[in-house]
Amino acid sequence: MSVKKIAAHMKSNPNAKVIFMVGAGISTSCGIPDFRSPGTGLYHNLARLRLPYPEAVFDVDFFQSDPLPFYTLAKELYPGIFKPSKFHYLLKLFQDKNLLRRVYTQNIDTLERQAGVKDDLIIEAHGSFAHCHCIGCGKVYPQQVFKSKLDEEPIKDFVKCDVCDELIKPAIVFFGEDLPDSFSETWLSDSEWLREKPSNSDEHQQQPLVIVAGTSLAVYPFASLPEEIPRKAKRVLCNLETVGDFKTNKRSTDLIVNQLSDSFAEQLVEELGWQEDFQKILTAQTAVTDASKERLLEVVHDLESLSLNRSERDDSNKQDKMPRHTDYHAIDEHKKMVNKSSST
Ligand SMILES: [Zn+2]
Repeated sequence: MSVKKIAAHMKSNPNAKVIFMVGAGISTSCGIPDFRSPGTGLYHNLARLRLPYPEAVFDVDFFQSDPLPFYTLAKELYPGIFKPSKFHYLLKLFQDKNLLRRVYTQNIDTLERQAGVKDDLIIEAHGSFAHCHCIGCGKVYPQQVFKSKLDEEPIKDFVKCDVCDELIKPAIVFFGEDLPDSFSETWLSDSEWLREKPSNSDEHQQQPLVIVAGTSLAVYPFASLPEEIPRKAKRVLCNLETVGDFKTNKRSTDLIVNQLSDSFAEQLVEELGWQEDFQKILTAQTAVTDASKERLLEVVHDLESLSLNRSERDDSNKQDKMPRHTDYHAIDEHKKMVNKSSST
């Protein structure tokens, strides 16, 4: 019912641009584990790497003492391995319709970019793999410097700064690090844009929408964005549970859709009569999928074998810091198993 209302709002405000604020929930259907889901979450998988606590993988001090868990995680999440979800392509469709003002994302998977959303329309609040920097002197390096190490099998050593010999890491915001300046600067300008008085231009006579999707609104300062949305704009929440300011300070104009973001995307496209354009975007992407699926299977196995080797190593108190060579026979067996289960 609420999706119908959103579509109706858009039809009666046909020039109103939309701001999206998104989180891990829009990427879970791509196979990227949600950090916090018990049992299946990324933190749970990382716990097998014997981190002192799972979040340590994003702690600069811990990274400095043992970079391997982060390298393992980076290998699993590295852009290019996963395919965007329908919701990511919905963002692209909004852009194609000239209805996208901005996407604020908490995700570091860069799937918004991969779906074709333009660089200047995306704010990656928690950084991304797009650049690297030295944790000592801050020298900036191209992403390839870090990525080239991930291609090594096994990972033998870690990338270091040619100036100060400290470790280099992707520009992903770790605990205790500041968010990129672009986050607050852009939000300041976007919230002013949302607040602007009606003018003679078409765009401003229209009530803009802010769609918050796939986030538990648990991580600040991102979680405080919805309460800062000016009342002139209409807020939408698409999430399995009603969370954050939508729960504690619900506005009478809020629209809440408690469902998965992909089915939300499908329904909204249908209500707006955009199926044909949406299908074109989806079809253009199919060719990329098969290659990345193959790569994903290898990465999943590498992660398993790495954690297994680490526990063996710890048990036997070996000094060897590196995992053993990957068992390629086991990968083949694993692929057969996965292919079998996915074809049934
Ligand atoms: Zn340095």
